[in-house]
Amino acid sequence: MITCIRRRALSVLALVAVASPVPAAMAEARPAPISESEVRSHIAVLASDEFEGRAPGTAGETRTLDYLAKTWASYGLVSGTNDTTRPWFQPVPLVERKPYGQAVSAVARGKALALKEDGVVLAGRNPTDRVTGEPVFVGFGVKADGTLNADVQGRVVLMLSAEPKFAGAAKLPNLRDRQKMLADAGAAAVLITAPEGASWGALRAQLANGSMRLASDDKGAKIGGVLRGDVTQALMRAARLSPDDAIASAQDAAFAPITLPVTLDLATSTQVRAFASHNVIGKLPGARPGSGAVIVLGHWDHFGICRSEEAEDRICNGAVDNASGMAVLLTVAERLARSAGAGAPLDRDVYFMGTTAEERGLLGAYHFADNPVVPLDQILVALNIDTVAIAPKGAPVALVGRGENGLDEIVDQVAIAAGRTVDSDTEANAFIRRQDGWALAAKGVKSIMAGGSFADMALLQAFLTTVYHQPDDELTDATPLGGAADDANLHVDLVRHFADEAKYNPAPTGD
Ligand SMILES: [Zn+2]
Repeated sequence: MITCIRRRALSVLALVAVASPVPAAMAEARPAPISESEVRSHIAVLASDEFEGRAPGTAGETRTLDYLAKTWASYGLVSGTNDTTRPWFQPVPLVERKPYGQAVSAVARGKALALKEDGVVLAGRNPTDRVTGEPVFVGFGVKADGTLNADVQGRVVLMLSAEPKFAGAAKLPNLRDRQKMLADAGAAAVLITAPEGASWGALRAQLANGSMRLASDDKGAKIGGVLRGDVTQALMRAARLSPDDAIASAQDAAFAPITLPVTLDLATSTQVRAFASHNVIGKLPGARPGSGAVIVLGHWDHFGICRSEEAEDRICNGAVDNASGMAVLLTVAERLARSAGAGAPLDRDVYFMGTTAEERGLLGAYHFADNPVVPLDQILVALNIDTVAIAPKGAPVALVGRGENGLDEIVDQVAIAAGRTVDSDTEANAFIRRQDGWALAAKGVKSIMAGGSFADMALLQAFLTTVYHQPDDELTDATPLGGAADDANLHVDLVRHFADEAKYNPAPTGD
């Protein structure tokens, strides 16, 4: 349920502020609000077919980086990177893998087992990989204390994908972490059963699309894979196990892993490509260097040419996700730079960053968090902007990160002063790990994503279940830009607030 609260006391303050006379110099420094057509003009460029869906490591990346850096520079921003040989762009070394061949066979008690190969999707690490062995069914792979429950060195591991919930146990590692732990412990192959309720077709298509990882974090088993439920069951039956009993017994923290007397032979062929993509970083220098920094970020990347040659529309343009967010970063930078140029500079440095490979797991943002251009403890606030063209004009402001870092009250006040209402529930936090701000929040930076898109979950779901991540995420006359323009103006106000030493002066971290 969404609750919209207009805080009366604050609204009165806002009215007083609006009613007070504005000095002439200030009026000049406060340009007109950002309009829908300004937002639209940037989306039209970034989501055009010419930009090929902005996939990392493609011509679409080159065009996107060029557009963002040149546009910011034209407003008066300077490069935000410390590398003078290649200003504006922070290289992000990545490894991309695309599977193009696999073979699976199984032998139980000397007889070939007819496995349905369309129920198996494998992904290899190297151009060719092969792993043979008897799989060990590890249940969830962990004990109640969160450590691995088996010696998996050199083994083929079969694991449940659901999140473990042992009675009385503290928070246990999620699937991704468990896969990583198994790989780190030397598993040769890590196979999981398809998550319950997942569409096998969609899952398969997603896996066929390949994977991308930071080169600095490129570990993993030789072969990873997902088995459809009936294939997992066939393997268990061939081992004379009841699948129901085996899965039920794994719900107990004391579960002992079971080796299945079935020889699995797995082989993969994979296209492996190492390359550098880039974060693009601009800076609006503040009047008081050393007073801390504010960063506004959003991901520039999307899925590129995402359909095969036969498809009528091959390009995932990512108009809403996230050309709309980048349009906001551009328009906000323009307004703030214009004010600064008119003699009203902000106190603090403000960084504007377009991140790469968010769609592949927040990779650009994680890379930045490991290699920040300014020490993280000097970044006082991170404002992430993603998928803003969802809500109509006048939508309440929801907060991804509400209750997490003490910024709620300030954002609510700024929003109400700007004439917005506030969605004060924590429903939007469902997205907290699904956005770039998380990479910074995980390292202690106060990070929020504020805006109208995450206020109306029905509206957001309507997007997520239709054009989201599809070629149909295109800019049309019907694309709602009212909320995007509202959110752009809100971010002008938020940055003004957080970059003002008198208005926002948190105690230094560590105090
Ligand atoms: Zn996305």
